[in-house]
Amino acid sequence: MYRCPVCFGRENDVVLRRQGDRWYCIKCSFTGSSEEIEGMYRDLKKKFRLMTTRITLEDLEADRIGPAGSFEEGTA
Ligand SMILES: [Zn+2]
Repeated sequence: MYRCPVCFGRENDVVLRRQGDRWYCIKCSFTGSSEEIEGMYRDLKKKFRLMTTRITLEDLEADRIGPAGSFEEGTA
């Protein structure tokens, strides 16, 4: 059983329906093989690991993060 990686990325938890060796989502019409879905899960995990890194006001006050956009310094 798989959950739709597209809907999951939008904070919707939709279970995919199986059709032969493909899976499809009744909500967003995504279709994919098991391999494709597992690959998308890996990408989502990377994304969500960053999303759980919260920048708090304390971090900003302590100058641990730096002002927004400071990472763009040095780009042409
Ligand atoms: Zn979906």
